[in-house]
Amino acid sequence: MNIIDQPNPADTASRHSVFAGGATSTLDKLNRPLRDLRLSVIDQCNFRCTYCMPRDTFGADYRFLPSSERLSFEQIVKLAKAFALLGVEKIRITGGEPLLRRGLESLIEQLAKLTTASGKPMELALTTNGSLLAAKARSLRDAGLGRVTVSLDAVDDAVFRRMSDVDMPVSRILDGIEAAREVGLAPIKVNAVIERGVNDSQILPLVRLFKGTGVTVRFIEYMDVGGAGGWSNTKVITARETRDIVASAFPLVPVVVHEQMGTAVNYRHADGAGEVGFIASVSQPFCGSCSRARVSADGQLFSCLFATHGTDLRPWLAETASVEQLAGAVRSRWIQRDDRYSELRSTPRRPASGKAYPTVRMSLVGG
Ligand code: SAM
Ligand code: SF4
Ligand code: SF4
Repeated sequence: MNIIDQPNPADTASRHSVFAGGATSTLDKLNRPLRDLRLSVIDQCNFRCTYCMPRDTFGADYRFLPSSERLSFEQIVKLAKAFALLGVEKIRITGGEPLLRRGLESLIEQLAKLTTASGKPMELALTTNGSLLAAKARSLRDAGLGRVTVSLDAVDDAVFRRMSDVDMPVSRILDGIEAAREVGLAPIKVNAVIERGVNDSQILPLVRLFKGTGVTVRFIEYMDVGGAGGWSNTKVITARETRDIVASAFPLVPVVVHEQMGTAVNYRHADGAGEVGFIASVSQPFCGSCSRARVSADGQLFSCLFATHGTDLRPWLAETASVEQLAGAVRSRWIQRDDRYSELRSTPRRPASGKAYPTVRMSLVGG
């Protein structure tokens, strides 16, 4: 399919004119296809991770989106269909904490029925803090969810509580991971953000806990995204440093890939007991292969995690606009995309304050 212009949402005459048969790739200005969609279904969260939603900013008087401003499931499904037309093959549901969105299973049921432009089933994944996963793993799987990624930054209770700023034992998250494993929401990934002096003590315990379980731990560099008010580059432990720490206790062998598609560089345990991933989003950015679009819970399209503003898709989410017209609007934005913030981060174009850049909030747009 090839969308040839951006339609006016009110112009129903152009309804069928936006597509003509052909390619299913939508390329941006740097020739990057649109392949992944991160859909945020809610901006609220029951955690206050210090690197994402610090309590002094996201306190009792913080104004989250009222539910009336969130996209309805019908609108989200319409969005997913439009992105599928443009070549998206994988949808990740995120937030805020996506499992706080009431009735999420019914959305998943509808998204799971979608196919990609080339006729394959749409890959459907979810990123969660895991706190509600034990209760929901089975219903999510039954609804058609494929995979789950759980964010967990510590094994030690005190470190976990400090970092997520929530009164909850780590065991609750571990129970969630176990429940996901039992119902076959696999392969399960555990993402850990490592902040120097805060949870670097947890690198080896995390690897030890999941080694040989089939769960892949991936370490993420602490990023200067919106929300991370306390960020400074001195708090970043690079993927290379983390890998050296892991390798000092667990012999690792690089996993050879023909083409780096995902964000993580994986190593396997030399004794065959699974893999560990390292995501060098700050020290070795992967903008060159970034095929991700993000849509916030209120229908703003973001072409980069570090974007300062989005494109409002709501006019095309109205009933008067077709899926093709919505796809046309997304395509118009994508073909203009030249974001590569992380690659430019260390160049003189960016003020060298060493502080976080005032981007959109991670909890609104999803990680
Ligand atoms: N609440 C869910 C969760 O925590 O998995 C989904 C949303 S959360 C915004 C998605 C991911 O963003 C999490 O894995 C989280 O660790 C990551 N994240 C948030 N702020 C970050 C930061 N400053 N640097 C790196 N990763 C961050
Ligand atoms: Fe909530 Fe996830 Fe952000 Fe933590 S990282 S505050 S769990 S949205
Ligand atoms: Fe993609 Fe922007 Fe991150 Fe680069 S900085 S990898 S373009 S989201």
